[in-house]
Amino acid sequence: MLKTVKSINDECPQTLFIQMSKQCSKCKKSNAIYLRNYSGELLCKKCFIKSVEYKAKRTLSKFSMIKHGDRVAVAVSGGKDSLALLNILKNILSGVNPELVAITVDEGIKGYRDESLNIVKCFCSSIGVENRVVSFSELFGLSMDNAMEVRPSEKISSCSMCGTFRRRAIDQLAESCGANVIATGHNLDDYIQTFLINLFAGDVERIGWTYPEPIEYGVGGLKKIKPLMEIYEKELVLYAIHLNIPFQAEECPYKDESIRSAFRSHLNNLEKIHPGIKYNAYNSILKIAKKLKSTNNVIDREHRRCLVCGRDSSGDVCSVCSTLNLLFKKN
Ligand code: SF4
Ligand code: ZN
Repeated sequence: MLKTVKSINDECPQTLFIQMSKQCSKCKKSNAIYLRNYSGELLCKKCFIKSVEYKAKRTLSKFSMIKHGDRVAVAVSGGKDSLALLNILKNILSGVNPELVAITVDEGIKGYRDESLNIVKCFCSSIGVENRVVSFSELFGLSMDNAMEVRPSEKISSCSMCGTFRRRAIDQLAESCGANVIATGHNLDDYIQTFLINLFAGDVERIGWTYPEPIEYGVGGLKKIKPLMEIYEKELVLYAIHLNIPFQAEECPYKDESIRSAFRSHLNNLEKIHPGIKYNAYNSILKIAKKLKSTNNVIDREHRRCLVCGRDSSGDVCSVCSTLNLLFKKN
């Protein structure tokens, strides 16, 4: 039996349901369940689901994210965004791209990751998508729990260490599945937060890299795509709940209180007062990223190789190998 977790941070789904006796402004037949504040539309369940899937489809085509013959690996963690993404891609690519595979990374976090691995496994089997899992222990010789014990905390934060390993694990798992496209569940809120993080860190080059037209990297030419990047986070919560998609909402015990959480909460407050402000910000960021991508401010990621593992690297040693070095040296 799948377990559904229905509480999530400050976007509590209970507050997203609107009891209305008004009609859906699209079909003019059913009762509305959602008021899309930024557009003023009232939507019934069916039209809401359709509109979310349509947005993802439009993003895929606007940025040429998937081409004929691509094999797509969907990175699925067990959270609402990645499970919603899997369901959306399964629906919109049905018949076009039968080679969808769900890839999951087991970081090795006791009492947290086990539940989400189970949620992903059950959901994939219920919609008939293959699920492949790889663990940090298999790839790097230590779990996240082990790494937290030996890490020099002043030199590396939990999430940056975990993120470095997870990105590599996803790449390797996708390659081993024969996939050339990796789809991730980043939403519009994530995209704006990432922009602000880069802006406040003075990392202008990275802003250009976030432009959504995929760039190939790695030996076999992998591409990363974010089909949900034009969809508000709260709409993905609502999508998952209305379709009874189970998801894990419990927080990871190692989560840092990063600047991302602060931006998230400020942006949510702003959106409450000025509906649509996130959408405006998204459109402006897209223009800035496009300009930066096409100027010299964005240095193309050089095709250098890590001297230790041989994978793509911006320096002599890649971030995974230098992190492992830091962890094992401490040991
Ligand atoms: Fe890893 Fe941080 Fe996410 Fe936990 S919250 S799974 S440590 S990235
Ligand atoms: Zn390396």
